[in-house]
Amino acid sequence: MSHSDRPPTEPSRPDVPPRQTAAYLRALFAEVGFNVNPRHGQNFLIDLNLLDLLDRTAAVGADDVVLEVGTGTGALTERLAAVASRVVTCEIDPRLAQLARERLVEFDNVTLVEGDVLAGKHRFAPEVLQAIAAARAAAPAGRFLLAANLPYCVATPVISNLLALPEPFTAATVTVQREMAERMTAAAGDSSYNALSVWVGAQCRGEIVRGLPPTSFWPRPGVDSAIVRLDLEPERRGAIEDLPRFHRFVRDVFCHRRKVLRGVLLGIAGGRRTAAAREAVEALYTSLGLPPAVRAEDLSPDAFVRMEREFHRMLAPHGEGSG
Ligand code: SAM
Repeated sequence: MSHSDRPPTEPSRPDVPPRQTAAYLRALFAEVGFNVNPRHGQNFLIDLNLLDLLDRTAAVGADDVVLEVGTGTGALTERLAAVASRVVTCEIDPRLAQLARERLVEFDNVTLVEGDVLAGKHRFAPEVLQAIAAARAAAPAGRFLLAANLPYCVATPVISNLLALPEPFTAATVTVQREMAERMTAAAGDSSYNALSVWVGAQCRGEIVRGLPPTSFWPRPGVDSAIVRLDLEPERRGAIEDLPRFHRFVRDVFCHRRKVLRGVLLGIAGGRRTAAAREAVEALYTSLGLPPAVRAEDLSPDAFVRMEREFHRMLAPHGEGSG
């Protein structure tokens, strides 16, 4: 099907009643006997202007492959599918997956994976990875993008795991809890700066595009949300020597974020009593010119990348690498 042949989506069909209002969803769910499951973060984006903003911010092109996590009834999926080369969308709830399949029946460029997007905290479901690989093979000229109203329960592992892939997204446009949006875009010294800020910030430029009040969703969540855009910066990502090792290091360091960094690094290196650990940490402080009382939360993501690389190098001769 060429792009011009694809079925038009809601915004260009003013004659069709919008299919993502609270009234529409309530009636649809009553008709099929579906009860919203709060455990799965089923808060549907019902503000059509915001759904359009999410779609516009994702700026999907005709060659692109898009991953959506949390298909719901397919409201965002059909917008993405009208433009993208291929869309891979994943939905855990079989009833919603069925409703989405019916809504998306005219799109032959959508692969709907029914099931949990994750096979573990740090792992995507193999079916999702296979569907992405197949879509990317079918559209090799395009970028790989993430565009989603993410289920809050898995938003952090979805973003973190995508950034751990050998070929991650070029850009991600997502709605997440406001708190998580702030963490992903925080700078060193901000109160929300944590391991996620460093992991995301070392690889991407991030921006909060718009805050979303609970009234943007049905049912209303108990927290504020935001649309965030992340753009991968391949050169900065390339400065990370070993991605899994760096990820572990950042998580280990932030387990003790309030402690002075020196003590945390000594712990990772093998303990205060180990001469090799003391030497490595001293050499690291000298080589990077770190102030004695520096804390993890004072260091920018790029400083973390330099520090982890040096730290590993200084430990390596003693065979006590952190990774
Ligand atoms: N895309 C729809 C929209 O914009 O209104 C629905 C978004 S709703 C916030 C999140 C969706 O993710 C729900 O449909 C929920 O069932 C689904 N979901 C929750 N956990 C999931 C998981 N682990 N894997 C796949 N889908 C999940």
